[in-house]
Amino acid sequence: MKTIERKNIKKERICINCKRKLRSKYVVHHHLIPAQILREKNLINKLRGNTILLCKPCEFYLHYLYDNKELEDNINTIENILSDGKMKLFAEWIYDKPYVSKKQIKTCILNGLIMNKKEEIMKHILFVCKANLNRSPTFERFFKNKLKNTEVRSAGIYYGYPYQVNQEILKWADKIYVMDLSQSKFIKENYPSQYKKVEVIGISDEYNPDDDGLIDLIKFWWEDKIRNLSVFLNPKE
Ligand SMILES: [Zn+2]
Repeated sequence: MKTIERKNIKKERICINCKRKLRSKYVVHHHLIPAQILREKNLINKLRGNTILLCKPCEFYLHYLYDNKELEDNINTIENILSDGKMKLFAEWIYDKPYVSKKQIKTCILNGLIMNKKEEIMKHILFVCKANLNRSPTFERFFKNKLKNTEVRSAGIYYGYPYQVNQEILKWADKIYVMDLSQSKFIKENYPSQYKKVEVIGISDEYNPDDDGLIDLIKFWWEDKIRNLSVFLNPKE
């Protein structure tokens, strides 16, 4: 038992950015000059040196914020990383979280919980149901002003109701959430070029607008989206 404990202690590493103590497999050697740039410049012999320890989420976030050129030019020392406002905020955000996935990080960026690179946010979300009377407008109202830097709209597939889907609104959307398979089928058949953005939520047409039961389902769906993650820091590994 003692041997195992000692082994674990030996393997623990500290992330320079967030200061979390983690097992070595959750920590990476981050190249202060990006490895790809070293390879391009034929400086492969330098690959072994000039690295610092970052946890996987901090490294992921650093590469999410800055491309290789920016890292090479401006974020090439420990001091640069530690004095970067966004990395500081990220460290504060992640400090008390033992296990965080890439998806979780992205969702939190989307929700404005941590700072982000604006242009990468999903800006336009469209909810689609049958008539645009009950389900999709409830989604629209629920998410309106809830997601930072994101516009939310809703539409239906039936003609003659408040707002019918058309090429323009489907093109406008970065992501199209439909309530059930009939809307998915409708978009696939009528607007095949937009179909790749469609995701089916799976809520049947039995609710009134802003129905408590429907609001509960929306909350459950959204929480599940945040929770159901492909965790790359899995405690059960
Ligand atoms: Zn970290």
